[in-house]
Amino acid sequence: MNTHNHHQNTSANPTDLLDMKAAVVSGKGADFEIRSLKIRQPKGDEVLVKIVATGICHTDVSARNQYYPVPLPVVLGHEGAGIVQAVGSEVKDLKVGDHVILTYGYCGHCEECYTGKQPFCVESYERNFGGCDTDGSHAIFDEQNNPINDHFFSQSSFATLAIARESNAIKVPDNAPIELLGPLGCGIQTGAGTVMNALEVTPASSFAVWGAGSVGLSGLLGAKLLGASTIIAVDIVDSRLELAKELGATHVINSKKQDPVEAIREITGGGVKFALETTGIPAILTQGVNALGRLGKIAVVGAPPMGTPAEFDVNDLLIYGKSIIGNVQARTTPKKFIADLVDLYLKGDFPFDKLVKYYDFKDINQAVADSHSGVTLKPILKIADAAL
Ligand code: NAD
Repeated sequence: MNTHNHHQNTSANPTDLLDMKAAVVSGKGADFEIRSLKIRQPKGDEVLVKIVATGICHTDVSARNQYYPVPLPVVLGHEGAGIVQAVGSEVKDLKVGDHVILTYGYCGHCEECYTGKQPFCVESYERNFGGCDTDGSHAIFDEQNNPINDHFFSQSSFATLAIARESNAIKVPDNAPIELLGPLGCGIQTGAGTVMNALEVTPASSFAVWGAGSVGLSGLLGAKLLGASTIIAVDIVDSRLELAKELGATHVINSKKQDPVEAIREITGGGVKFALETTGIPAILTQGVNALGRLGKIAVVGAPPMGTPAEFDVNDLLIYGKSIIGNVQARTTPKKFIADLVDLYLKGDFPFDKLVKYYDFKDINQAVADSHSGVTLKPILKIADAAL
């Protein structure tokens, strides 16, 4: 039963529009520009969220650069975390004041959603990259009331206020550090969830991660949680390999300095059992497949531009029984998995805070540059208290 009807405001009447600030991308590859905009109130199953902080993921940058074409001008941001400000009339389980992590959008009524595989929802592309709601409408407007493309990952959370749906807003305990948790909505759940739910790493096995960035290192944390005993990190940046060791890597390989395929074969006595590709570079996927042992599995989450092919020897796959598994997000129900990751973090078993560096919202372009150059693994923009 909905007990908070007095908070509802189902109208999209322009007089109800709320003032907000958001980072707008107006051209392919252009800088983010913080602008004064307006957002409508939530309706139906929507919630309006005051954004406390939002992580920056490579997918935001890929969308800005149009590797993933999204209509412009657009408000990006898809690792938002904040506090519910208002709820629509159909919202059942969330109320004003709840702390929430925002994740990707899904329809909830296709075969994949019914079977707990929400990342593969049939409406995934339109709900996450469409630039508007599924009915073509917008929630964000400029000062002349012209719509701005929004609903990026059903949230557009590079903003002080965001509209999400109840289904993609995950309630977290009030005592959890909400400013830290946004990246669990995408990058961090992708690394850990792919290892835990797609690769299903087994105890005492060997695991290699290609790319020790935020997705790769959260995958490494997942492999450690599942009990892999040989954990290998491959990267070209020594500081990232040092952090990988701190987080549990038993071996690190700088692939600029040694052949990673030979090194992995030597460490594992023939080839690794489980692997995760996070660089998005097709030649690295080829190395990843080559470094697998018999019945080895590699999951691919690193994302190159659309249409990028990769090479492998077909007979190598069949003679050794190797598997290549594509994946997005955590391959499971986000409401449960993200809540589980919060719980593991609070117990000290999933220290993803070691990957994070905070930036003020106004420094968004610096944060993107630092992430690109490798200075910062996972930037989080502090939005609620930002000086704008
Ligand atoms: P990142 O830049 O932090 O990590 C990539 C890492 O690869 C870096 O540490 C980099 O030094 C390393 N690298 C680059 N070239 C290399 C090489 N030749 N050999 C070895 N390592 C090399 O990025 P991230 O935030 O961890 O994201 C990784 C990828 O995952 C991106 O492509 C992103 O778009 C994608 N992603 C996919 C999903 C999904 O659901 N599939 C979700 C989030 C992110």
